[in-house]
Amino acid sequence: MKSAILGYAAKGVGQELERFSYEPPKLKNHEVRVSITHCGLCYSDIYAIDDQFGITAFPFVPGHEIVGYVSEVGPSVSGLKKGDRVGIGWQGRSCMQCEWCLRGDEHLCKDVVQNGVWMPYGGFSSSVTVDSRFAYTLPPSMPSEFAAVLLCAGIAVYAPLRSSVAGHRQKVGIVGLGGLGHLAIQFAHALGFEVTAISSSRDKEGQALALGADHFLPAPDKASLSQMKLSFDILLYTGHSSLDWISLQRTLRNNGKLVMVGFSPDPVSFESVDLVVHQNSITGSFLGSRMVMREMLEFAQERGIKPQVETMAMSQVNEAIRRVKDGRARYRIVLVNEPARPGTGAD
Ligand SMILES: [Zn+2]
Ligand SMILES: [Zn+2]
Repeated sequence: MKSAILGYAAKGVGQELERFSYEPPKLKNHEVRVSITHCGLCYSDIYAIDDQFGITAFPFVPGHEIVGYVSEVGPSVSGLKKGDRVGIGWQGRSCMQCEWCLRGDEHLCKDVVQNGVWMPYGGFSSSVTVDSRFAYTLPPSMPSEFAAVLLCAGIAVYAPLRSSVAGHRQKVGIVGLGGLGHLAIQFAHALGFEVTAISSSRDKEGQALALGADHFLPAPDKASLSQMKLSFDILLYTGHSSLDWISLQRTLRNNGKLVMVGFSPDPVSFESVDLVVHQNSITGSFLGSRMVMREMLEFAQERGIKPQVETMAMSQVNEAIRRVKDGRARYRIVLVNEPARPGTGAD
């Protein structure tokens, strides 16, 4: 008889998390069970607790920036064994059969709603069950609290920046300076972009420059945005609040694009004439494939990308959620299962 898995669940929409236990599901083909040491808190967890995507099943155990050790190996698993340290991001499985999976874009799988590691229960827990093909071996010297954050926030910003690298030094504006934005600045700098951090928090200027930004632009501020007319090749929106989209649009150069990796509460709209004349575009980017995930982890390790992390005990999950909602996290909170592992990761 296996012991129950102990987690923290919201029992209904918007509710505080409570202790929750469930019987370990029997491992299916390709699945592994992972004993969790670390799990980052992402804004998408909060959206899901509030059922803003309209897909949350309650009781809901959030958490999808997971690091831990393989504790049990199911049938047909290759490449992983008991005791291996692995990381898992938002995607815990995919159908492996649809056109998107077959072409290596598993993150765009037709079954995306079922693919979340939240299904059935996520990472704010003692253990999680996932398809081993979405459990990534981590660089041995990468701290687990860094890896946790890279597995969702890291891949979310790395993938669109990586695919935008061109032959010349492009100018990128990173809009928003939170969990995603602080990593986007570091990745963009390491990938060779000229980086402008755009944030409404003027007190973050020094931090943005220290993270690798070349410039800082306070926003939303029409006057400062208008000085940046026709400046950026790419604007990467990493926030979760509404903005003056048309003022932002005017900062884009010819062929400039706005890439959304955060969820805006309102529709995103551009002015039509500039859209045509300057060949602007608005596009979204959702995480990344398994190949890009592996590449991102290696790149982050090689180039010294360092998530700024606060660690808290898993039992403090509700306090962690309050800190993130109030904008008090700098920049990402990672929940750690007791017994706590040494090191905070913040430097
Ligand atoms: Zn996330
Ligand atoms: Zn698929």
